Amino acid sequence: MSTTRTATFAAIGVLSLAGCGDAQQTVDQNNETLQAVSSFSILTDMVEEIAGEHVEVYNLVPVGQDPHEYEALPDDSKAMADADIFFYNGLNLEGGEHGWAARMADAVELDADHRVEAAEGVEPMYLSEGLTDSVNPHAFLDPNVGMIMADNIAEGLSEADPDNAAAYEQNLDDYLAELSQLDAQYQQEIGDLAEERRVLVTSERAFQYVAERYDLREGYIWSVDTDDVGTPDQIISAIDFVNTYEPPALFVESNVTPAPMETVAEDTGVEIYATVYSDELAPEGEPGDTYLGFLEENLTRISEGLQQ
Ligand SMILES: [Zn+2]
Repeated sequence: MSTTRTATFAAIGVLSLAGCGDAQQTVDQNNETLQAVSSFSILTDMVEEIAGEHVEVYNLVPVGQDPHEYEALPDDSKAMADADIFFYNGLNLEGGEHGWAARMADAVELDADHRVEAAEGVEPMYLSEGLTDSVNPHAFLDPNVGMIMADNIAEGLSEADPDNAAAYEQNLDDYLAELSQLDAQYQQEIGDLAEERRVLVTSERAFQYVAERYDLREGYIWSVDTDDVGTPDQIISAIDFVNTYEPPALFVESNVTPAPMETVAEDTGVEIYATVYSDELAPEGEPGDTYLGFLEENLTRISEGLQQ
């Protein structure tokens, strides 16, 4: 999956080298390029894939930091001030209507129609039943949700930059085909597991949408990273879950402290099989450093871990 991206970058490299002799043309082209800002690494990669070479995309929350809570840097505010279009996940990922991302867009008085909520139209799931303010933001872990987000991204780009709408549509079609292929892989690999092995335990409750879509029983230590994480009560209840449903393996996310899951592993004798990704891509150059790669890596690690 990452080869496509490398090939695209290589092609852009060749084009800009070829354009070196004509500085004026390069400057003009740069001025015409749509300036986009995107809130976190997963979404930024999706925007880049659908935008292709027509858009410059500035990423806010870097890999290694938490998109639930984020403090903007001066460069971020500057990028926001220059942005033609701003992409954010929504579903409360960035703290909701009054969260950090909305405040940044408000601070530069960005028009509402220049803000694209990627998860618009996604059926929300809730961390606490009946509590509508407890929406779980992690819908993007499900490739089917990725398709809705990709549609919204392409629509936002086409509205902001109608001249390149055909290119965005084409990129969208290619991207949707890859996501649909991934969905089929999820169905097959998870569906192939014996029912008693279809138990997924992670630290944060980030896999709720995936569990519902592909019929996994879901265990976790805490419900969302912004709450208390790894309290003794939470650990005890995760240990109970593991003892009751006996998953073949446990998983820990790349962006959380592993200590609470290590306690669960020691107490139950069930080992941590691998790291999975919830709120961020893998570091650049590693498998999982694109959204498609992220989905694929999670599936591979989960299905291998639950098979053993
Ligand atoms: Zn999260």
